[in-house]
Amino acid sequence: MNTVCPRCHATGDFKQVDIERSQAGQVILLLGGLLPFLAYRSEQRSKVQCDQCKLVFLPKRPVSRFERLLKTVVVAVLLGLVVFLVYWALQ
Ligand SMILES: [Zn+2]
Repeated sequence: MNTVCPRCHATGDFKQVDIERSQAGQVILLLGGLLPFLAYRSEQRSKVQCDQCKLVFLPKRPVSRFERLLKTVVVAVLLGLVVFLVYWALQ
């Protein structure tokens, strides 16, 4: 994977950054539930730090076809659920 630092444009293997123990994750878990929390955690986990300028950033990664399909299915299921609930509530 060829990652480029967005600030100093250095290339190479950047080291992974430890998950920050901030309260943002807990707030997301409380307000949004488990799925947004897991998405937040996985994003935190994949952050890297540049050795040259110490910038912490989220490297761009190619989205696989399977991942795109999975997201489409999740969105479709959620939309179907919302439509079902609205239909059910109007009965
Ligand atoms: Zn840099």
